Amino acid sequence: MHHADHQSVPPAGAPLIDPFGRPISYLRVSVTDRCDFRCVYCMSEHMTFLPKSEVLSLEEIDRLATAFVRRGTRRLRLTGGEPLVRRGILDLVASLGRHLKTGALDELTLTSNGSQLDRFAEPLFAAGVRRINVSLDTLDADRFAAITRWGRLPQVLDGIRAATAAGIRVKLNMVALAGVNEDEIEAMLAFAADNGHDLTLIETMPLGEIDGDRMDQYLPLSRVRERLARRFTLQDIAVRTGGPARYVRIAETGQTLGFITPLTHNFCESCNRVRLTATGQLYMCLGQDDSADLRAVIRATGDDTALDRALDEAISRKPKGHDFVIARRGAAPAVARHMSVTGG
Ligand code: SAM
Ligand code: SF4
Repeated sequence: MHHADHQSVPPAGAPLIDPFGRPISYLRVSVTDRCDFRCVYCMSEHMTFLPKSEVLSLEEIDRLATAFVRRGTRRLRLTGGEPLVRRGILDLVASLGRHLKTGALDELTLTSNGSQLDRFAEPLFAAGVRRINVSLDTLDADRFAAITRWGRLPQVLDGIRAATAAGIRVKLNMVALAGVNEDEIEAMLAFAADNGHDLTLIETMPLGEIDGDRMDQYLPLSRVRERLARRFTLQDIAVRTGGPARYVRIAETGQTLGFITPLTHNFCESCNRVRLTATGQLYMCLGQDDSADLRAVIRATGDDTALDRALDEAISRKPKGHDFVIARRGAAPAVARHMSVTGG
């Protein structure tokens, strides 16, 4: 990857602040829509992926992310699809790592299925990555294969171990699925405690067409919380990340447990984030369809003045909140794009 022309320290620009006074300090970037797994709640078995010409090059991703950093982004998360299957991903991470060195960026992190972590853990650490989210829905090998279709559990566990050994903190994300892994939440808590991982539970979201019916998988986290509260003392804690996660401390173990319930509105008022797809579409809200085509802007000119204007214009359209619902059985998804397009 050639990034000589972006190598210099970016001069700071005016911070991006939306019409509701929320500073945009967190950017999630989907670096590819492709994946080596086919998780049942995320993709159909036979996905059609984007042609290469539509996907941003690594240089284009760097240019866009750097523009956000210049305008006040402090945290950058690479996701997908599976970010670690994108060819050249380490070059991109290493290049973006320069913003950590200058202090412009507080954190560079990834969300990964863990399949490639075994070989990438050390270079990721060297590039400045100190935390990573790994999706792990079950500790049972057969269930793992059933949920991910193409994934294999031992490979992911090796990846998690390698990351930890390299000095990267691993946070586990577990999608709570009715009748699939709801009986494993306590086992996962124990696994997390034993290995020094934080755990966050995610409620399923109605994103994109999949093969099954989402109603069958939908497990409200309010129910999970009630069940856990019968066994443990759950204390609300004030940690806020500007996203849809809420945290409790389990008094008996001292562990922190996160709940991501994107269908509720209780986080929109502090929303600090926007999402960039692999094709350079900027989504101002995960739950709404409005987007801005930043790829068109950067492919039209190498001058970042137009890009800065496009960022201002896009952020001026950031909505106050979303209107997700898991609709009636058999209804179309509330938002047509897959999670692997917008990035989780
Ligand atoms: N491939 C990486 C991974 O699995 O972590 C990154 C992308 S994945 C789309 C990001 C997160 O979204 C994962 O934790 C995944 O479990 C979650 N996810 C995917 N589809 C979802 C859905 N429909 N509802 C809720 N979470 C979903
Ligand atoms: Fe791939 Fe992540 Fe989607 Fe699973 S959740 S299919 S690992 S992108």
